Amino acid sequence: MVSAHFRILESLAMNMPQPIAIMGGGLAGLSLGIALRNRNVPVTIHEAGNYPRHRVCGEFLSGAGQTILDRHGLMPACLAAGGRWARTVAFATESRLGPVHTLPSPAFCLSRYTLDALLANEFVKSGGELHTHERGVPVPNQPGIVHATGRRPSAQVKGWRWFGVKCHVRHVPLSADLELHFGPSAYVGLCRLAEDVVNVCGLFRRRSDERKPAPSDPRDWLRGSPGSIRFERLLNAEWLTHSLCTVAGLDLRPRRASERTTLRLGDALTMIPPFTGNGMSLALESAALATDPLVSYSRGETDWASACAKFGRAIDSTFTTRLRCSAWLQRLLFLPAAPALLLQLTRRDGCLLRQLFAVTRGG
Ligand SMILES: Cc1cc2nc3c(=O)[nH]c(=O)nc-3n(C[C@H](O)[C@H](O)[C@H](O)COP(=O)(O)OP(=O)(O)OC[C@H]3O[C@@H](n4cnc5c(N)ncnc54)[C@H](O)[C@@H]3O)c2cc1C
Repeated sequence: MVSAHFRILESLAMNMPQPIAIMGGGLAGLSLGIALRNRNVPVTIHEAGNYPRHRVCGEFLSGAGQTILDRHGLMPACLAAGGRWARTVAFATESRLGPVHTLPSPAFCLSRYTLDALLANEFVKSGGELHTHERGVPVPNQPGIVHATGRRPSAQVKGWRWFGVKCHVRHVPLSADLELHFGPSAYVGLCRLAEDVVNVCGLFRRRSDERKPAPSDPRDWLRGSPGSIRFERLLNAEWLTHSLCTVAGLDLRPRRASERTTLRLGDALTMIPPFTGNGMSLALESAALATDPLVSYSRGETDWASACAKFGRAIDSTFTTRLRCSAWLQRLLFLPAAPALLLQLTRRDGCLLRQLFAVTRGG
């Protein structure tokens, strides 16, 4: 970080574009890095981990983020690496599987193991400096430093602890490209990827004072209760255990970009409930909204506080309604009777599905 400050002072003295340092090389950080390099801004990304690696994610990219991948020129490489389009969805409770619906617009599905590595590669090709295995200390209010460090952990939220689990499996028959299974205190998506691989990824919650021990094998979280449709689906699955990953301390409450002198992107800014399949898009979209203000800052046309304020206004006007509607729906989905009702209502009326789809993606 000291070297980042030194570079800012050096470039100011020589009237060169000021460099931007991004902490965190997930989708948000990498996407911003590529966009800034395309505008000739010097960029360094400090990433705590490395590539390729598996992440807890349903790998179902739905919303405007698809256009941003395309704008980076990455769609052909993503498709060549096994990316595919999901066009259908079916909802299930523990005992009932609903009909197959056509998605109002297709989602793009590719393993994060591949996607993040493709972006990292593109960033380096565009002249960006990538430091892996390097954990920065994200101090707020530092000019030229962007926080894209992923979720801000919370041990519990209103008496609940939230977890995510992901694993790839083979030999799982699905009725639709995405099956979304609801259970007590959980939902799990089964999403088709390339080559007979299915992404199984779930969001789970437990009371923070729960005494009963949680299943020690994360795959049991994903399987659910014996006899349930989800359990039956996964009965003969081949678990690709190298892809198994878990995350805890999730906080899905929507946040506004109110800190006007710290620039946060993606999950570091706010999280959207995973059932929307819109978190990756939000990461890519927030990076796109940061690009112009950061280019102006780098060229000395605006100061840091004004760049952050401009970004904050753009974020709040783009995401606030989407985040509120999604948080409200997420609360509803965890009410005991709600998933069965959702199945009933969407069975009769495709219009409801289209409306829910639109409000959770800013449509
Ligand atoms: C259960 C679950 C299912 C999901 N399913 C979907 C889905 O189907 N579709 C969808 O669109 N979204 C989904 N999401 C959300 C999606 O995964 C995230 O929104 C997305 O990964 C956010 O990208 P990001 O770049 O902000 O953060 P991340 O991808 O988390 O990247 C942050 C990076 O910062 C690095 N880092 C952290 N701290 C530091 C530090 N101090 N210094 C340097 N580097 C650091 C980390 O190593 C990491 O690489 C899901 C989330 C969960 C929990």
